[in-house]
Amino acid sequence: MSVYLVRDMAIKLVAQLDFLDMPEEKRIDLMHEILSYNEIEYDENLTDPVYSNEVISVIEERYRGVRNQFIAAVITKRLQLAYSITIEGIPDDLYACPCCQYKTLTSRGDYDICDMCSWEDDGNDDLMHYSGPNHMLLKEGRANFLTYGSMYPSSKTVKLAFSEIDKYEKKSY
Ligand SMILES: [Zn+2]
Repeated sequence: MSVYLVRDMAIKLVAQLDFLDMPEEKRIDLMHEILSYNEIEYDENLTDPVYSNEVISVIEERYRGVRNQFIAAVITKRLQLAYSITIEGIPDDLYACPCCQYKTLTSRGDYDICDMCSWEDDGNDDLMHYSGPNHMLLKEGRANFLTYGSMYPSSKTVKLAFSEIDKYEKKSY
């Protein structure tokens, strides 16, 4: 049996679960970070639910390009559902990361950090180009990703965490 959900609603659900599941310290840090970034005046006790909404909508944004199967798996696991979920709707077509080639970036060349491999996008696609912010050649970052699942060497656990279902669509050639 499978239950069908519309993508927008599934993202709202998974973002709220992420928010509620966060360790308290991390949640408070994130709230401070987002509320001050958005220049919202807030009381230090963070008691107004408007603050939570603000943070949850930022988390929702982070799911824009995430594959339906991944979101469905997260919800099923978090809520320990005995049935599967099928999500209908199309993820935003994001830009492929020059390092891991997964579509994780909402823009190019804006020094965004890739959610899959941690590469900082300096806009370059030349394999032999030395990337200042990443302290290595793009070619080295790619080789690290293939071996370790991250642009950094020796972080095999990251790859294992992602290996079950790909979080993002891969660039097609
Ligand atoms: Zn990447």
